[in-house]
Order: sequence, then C-alpha cells, then structure tokens
Amino acid sequence: MKLADLCPLPLPDEPRLPEEVLLGPGARAGLGAQVDARLGERPFRFGDPDTWRAADLGRPDWLLPRHPHADEQTAEQVARKAEGASGLVAVGSGTINDLAKCAAELLGIDFVVVGTAASMNGYASAIAAIVAGGLKTTRAARPARAIVLDTELLAAAPAALTRAGLGDLISKPVSDTDWWLADRLEGTGYSTLPGDIVERAYRRATAAAGGLMAGSPEAYVALGEALVLSGVAMVVAGSSAPASGGEHLLSHLWDMEALAEGREVRLHGAQVGVTTCISAAIYQRLIRIRQADLVPCKPWIEEERRLYAEHGALAPTLIEQARRKHARTEARLAKLSDGWKELRDEMGERRLPTPAELRAPLLACGAPASLRDLGSSRADGARVLRLARDIRDRLTVLDVAFDLGLLPGAADDLLVEAGVA
Ligand SMILES: [Zn+2]
Repeated sequence: MKLADLCPLPLPDEPRLPEEVLLGPGARAGLGAQVDARLGERPFRFGDPDTWRAADLGRPDWLLPRHPHADEQTAEQVARKAEGASGLVAVGSGTINDLAKCAAELLGIDFVVVGTAASMNGYASAIAAIVAGGLKTTRAARPARAIVLDTELLAAAPAALTRAGLGDLISKPVSDTDWWLADRLEGTGYSTLPGDIVERAYRRATAAAGGLMAGSPEAYVALGEALVLSGVAMVVAGSSAPASGGEHLLSHLWDMEALAEGREVRLHGAQVGVTTCISAAIYQRLIRIRQADLVPCKPWIEEERRLYAEHGALAPTLIEQARRKHARTEARLAKLSDGWKELRDEMGERRLPTPAELRAPLLACGAPASLRDLGSSRADGARVLRLARDIRDRLTVLDVAFDLGLLPGAADDLLVEAGVA
C-alpha cells in the first residue's frame, strides 16, 4: 500500500519518504512489480548469505560475506560491485539497509529493501548509521523507495532480532519527551506530529508483543507498521530527535566503548529497551521534585579534566560535543530556576509510561529487560548513566537529572526503580 494509507495522519510533502510499504503474509510476492516500477532495467540484487537464504528470492547478483558490518569500506564495496546498475534491491535488516542507503547515495540511484527482520526502525528513516574511522556516525541518506516486510520472513527471523526491534520501539514516548524537553529549555523546535504518527501503531505493537514468539502474523504486522512509522516520524521531524534521546546515548556509549576496545557491539534495540526503562525512571523522579535545587555549573576547565579522566581514549572524539553543551548550561539552569514548577507540571501531563509499563511488553516476548539480560551489571549501568550525556551535544533528560542533583548520586537507586538492576 501507499505509505500515505499506512500513516494515520496526513503527511507533509517530503520527497525523502518511501512511497510504498508492502506489509503482511506473503508480501514479497509483490517485490517484482516494485522493482519493475522503480528501479529501471538493471537492478542489482544483494544481501548476505543468511538474509538471502531466508528470503528465498532466486539468484542474487552478489552476496556480502557472512555477518557484514555497516562501515564505510563495506558501503563503498557494495557501490563498486553495483557500478552501472539502475537501482538496488537490498535483502536484509539493519546492516544491509544501512549499507544500501549509503551505496545508493554514492551511486545516485534508488533502492528497494526487503526486510528480513523487524529489528529496528531504520527502514523508512533518512539516516544511515555507519562506522567511519572506528566511530559510529550517522549520515543523511535517502531511504528505500519501497519497503517490503513479509511477515512470514519477519516471524522466521532469529528471536533476538525481533526482540531488539521491540526494544528500539518502546523508546518512542520517552525519546519524544526528551525532544520536547530540549525545546522547552533550549528552543530547539518540537512538533507533536511525529509522535502522533507513531502513537496508535506503538500501542498496537506493544499490546501484541506476547504474540511475537508464537509467530502471530498480526503481531508482526503491528511491529512492522510501528517500526516503519517510527522511521517516518524521524523524516517528518527532520531529525532523529523524536526517536533518539538519553536512552540512545546510553546505548551509543556502550557501542563506542566496544568499538574502541575491538569488542562486538550488542544489538542496538536490546540495549535501548533496557535503557528506556532507566530514562523513564528518571522522569518519574523529576515529576515529583517540588523545589528545584540546582547544581551550579562547573568551569569548563574542570569539566574538561573530568572528561579526559573518565572517558580515556574516547575523550578526544567527544570533547567538542561536550564543550558545546557545556556552553549552554548557564542559560539552561536559569530557565529551570525560573520555570521548574510549570515545566514539571507539563512533564507530568505527558503521562509517560512507567518503567513497569515499558518492561511489560519486553517481558511478554522474552526481550532483555535488565542489565544482567544484556550481560552488563549494576555497576556498569551506573557508570554509563553517569557518562552518557557527555557523548553528544543533544540535550536529554540525563542532563536535567544532573542539573537537579539527581545524578550522579541516585544512579544506583534509579536503576532499581527502573527495574533493570
Ligand atoms: Zn534506535
């Protein structure tokens, strides 16, 4: 169906949005017509050995090695292999979709994606997550012209991938609130449209989470729809902000540390499901704070010393982001001091899900719902909770928790209140 028919609200005229979404049992039967209509005479069909076998779509033009990484060199390799093609058919999930976005951008051609797992919300987003020079970066890239999500394929995907998709999805009400909070304190801009685009699908997908492991087609339709619309919300917002707040910073810090130490990163959505509960616990505390006792801003020279001491080898890569945010601290504290009561009341009116409400769908489908489930620990969780705000210029609930003196002192208690430690 047309994306406009999937979306509950009228969409702005935005050329970067996908046009067509085929979603349901057997949806891949419609792939040929999409390729003929959108990709010209010489489409280049690729995936990796596992995704291609799962999708069962005849002969590929080329397969990546098993377990590919979404990095710059691999995206260039895809582009070289596809040289002369009139379009790309990408078969896979997060990694393959990001590689296709970048390769299509490099070649100046369109692509169609056949999703093999409901593992993330990037199918419709205009951002690709790519590792460049050992660092996780996001870059603007046009999403697929058509997205094919066959629920038979999604249900046959490894359970961990589906669980990760649900984990990434549950962050939406919380990350949207971080986006709202940044606007209230720093005037960065906020619109209710992206949140409204996802809300109904979010409710359906989280309510249906218990059916995922039983292979219920309805549960996969609900999750696929919500993940696609979450990507659409980012395109409409012109930023990842409605889908990526403090809970994502916590996850990204783990990834940056793993990359720096040459370890494999964990599944993005698995981490985000757990960290979302932590952000939600912070919000529950904030809405109970009557009087704002603000922590004064430290001079930059002290902050810089702390950043080098605490982040070690990662410090040079994040120092500029931290410096930019630090430069705005005084102004933010003044706003918090003048308008805390009003801000707190508005925060309460947003009726954010509690950590227990967020954990319920995770538990219903066996997704990681605690630090231990991730192979982390309370001490490690408290550590990233103390440090994650440093890695990005974006204001989130983590910063406000420091401003109000909740962090770092209450880190352990917050992890318990989040139900993750
Ligand atoms: Zn995410």
